[in-house]
Amino acid sequence: MNFFYTNLNSIYESEDSLKLIMPFESLHLYLRDFFLNNLKKKAPVIDPLDFSFRYKIDTLKTINLFLTLSNYGLLKKLYQLECDECNEIAFEDSIENFYECFVCKHPLLNLSEPSFDKLFNNISYAFEFCDELQDELYHDLKVPPSLSSNKQSDDKGGDITTIQSNFSVSDVLKHTDVSMSSITSEQCIIKQQIDDFLAKGIKTIS
Ligand SMILES: [Zn+2]
Repeated sequence: MNFFYTNLNSIYESEDSLKLIMPFESLHLYLRDFFLNNLKKKAPVIDPLDFSFRYKIDTLKTINLFLTLSNYGLLKKLYQLECDECNEIAFEDSIENFYECFVCKHPLLNLSEPSFDKLFNNISYAFEFCDELQDELYHDLKVPPSLSSNKQSDDKGGDITTIQSNFSVSDVLKHTDVSMSSITSEQCIIKQQIDDFLAKGIKTIS
């Protein structure tokens, strides 16, 4: 029994937003190929924009896909923020945990920023494998699966594809397309985190 294939298949069946990307078999091959590459190069985290860029898949659909996989527990979602002062990258599973840089102690979120938009503009998404997926992928690295030879053949039928070089928490907050259901649910999660963040002693941002 193949853990990733089986789980991805059942997620695909229940999430219409994934069907907007490509047929299941292709999506499975792309994702597996991408994940194995991440393991091979020992990437500390998985960058969804790298997936979007590599396979020419719309950024919004890609972010929605990765958020969906994390909602179902295949991936773990992380927020990534680079310190303005020393460029050290911090990862947290909730934005309310960004306090100060653990290297230089510089405050990570500039609370004097006049708007939410700017405040969360530099927080992006990164992901990790869940343990079961990571174990299976490690096993596959030793016995590589044969990738489909017609990888480039599934044209996405004239959809408008936008590949962005960055995609931040602010982009999620600005988002209005309800067909991207995981992005819509991420908006609620972030708004809750912002409330918690504000409740921790920051009076107003306005
Ligand atoms: Zn720093």
